[in-house]
Amino acid sequence: MAEKRVGVMGWPVAHSISPAMHNAAFQALNMIDWKYDLLPIPPDIVRQSLRTLREEGGYTGVNVTVPHKQAVMPYVRPDEIARVLGAANTIDFRENRATNTDVEGLVEDLKAHGVVLDGAKVLVLGAGGAARAAVYGLTMAGAVVTVTNRTFERAQVMLADLTISAGIQTTNFKPLPEAALEDDYTLVLNCTPVGMWPHVDACPWPDGVPFLQGVTVYDMIYRPQKTRLMEKAELHDGRAIGGLGMLVRQGAASFRIWTGEEPPIGVMLMAAEAALTEKTSEPGS
Ligand code: NAP
Repeated sequence: MAEKRVGVMGWPVAHSISPAMHNAAFQALNMIDWKYDLLPIPPDIVRQSLRTLREEGGYTGVNVTVPHKQAVMPYVRPDEIARVLGAANTIDFRENRATNTDVEGLVEDLKAHGVVLDGAKVLVLGAGGAARAAVYGLTMAGAVVTVTNRTFERAQVMLADLTISAGIQTTNFKPLPEAALEDDYTLVLNCTPVGMWPHVDACPWPDGVPFLQGVTVYDMIYRPQKTRLMEKAELHDGRAIGGLGMLVRQGAASFRIWTGEEPPIGVMLMAAEAALTEKTSEPGS
């Protein structure tokens, strides 16, 4: 039986928990001919690596992570979502198609947690790649989004890009202290790395800014599984959801694209949790 290979290309990529998650799914579905690899690929050889993986490596497809999500775009056929975001995280080499499953990962995980998006008023913290996926996905799901970001110009560019590429015109920008004066957000979404391990005492919501009462916080960070921002939400009678479910569901969407099979989400979540615990306790991690 010919082996079917997929994997994740990034630099560095050793800490990725995607292999554990996907290989557990292959095992659970008895897909013994499938294997998911770590593919450490430095930035200067992205183009030739894509060709080698596709033409000589026998890969069906790959996930793409930092810092290659934008760099792969000239060498693939992006779908609508990847084109709008200017970044791809999943490639299917059979037709050289690329997409970005972060949008599905986030929206599906919010839905799985019972968060209603249609008509919701959402505050997005950040204006990088993850925030772009969030603003697009939330707006398409019917939410009204306000963005706040450390650097005003970056948010301005993101909003202008989303207006041009996806016709999104309803999103506005406000500095945090001003945005925080509005108390009718139902959801605050952290799309910054502030609070991520090892800087676990950091919080993207400064202590000097009064926190919102009874709001749901979704933190895209999954290491640690409970961030300072999530603690803040709970202290203010709110709800806190970490980003591991988004990671699992973006991976599940890739799995579906490559294999045509329905991914076992529960198995993938358990494998991701176990791998995260193992990697967090590794020396030097
Ligand atoms: P990115 O493109 O580098 O953007 C980072 C954003 O965070 C920028 O808006 C940046 O503001 C802001 N930021 C960074 N450091 C900051 C600080 N010290 N204070 C205030 N703002 C700061 O990163 P990304 O790809 O969007 O990823 C953001 C986070 O989402 C990461 O933690 C990543 O691991 C997580 N993520 C999780 C998933 C998941 O599946 N759970 C998926 C994708 C991403 P400036 O514009 O001012 O620099």
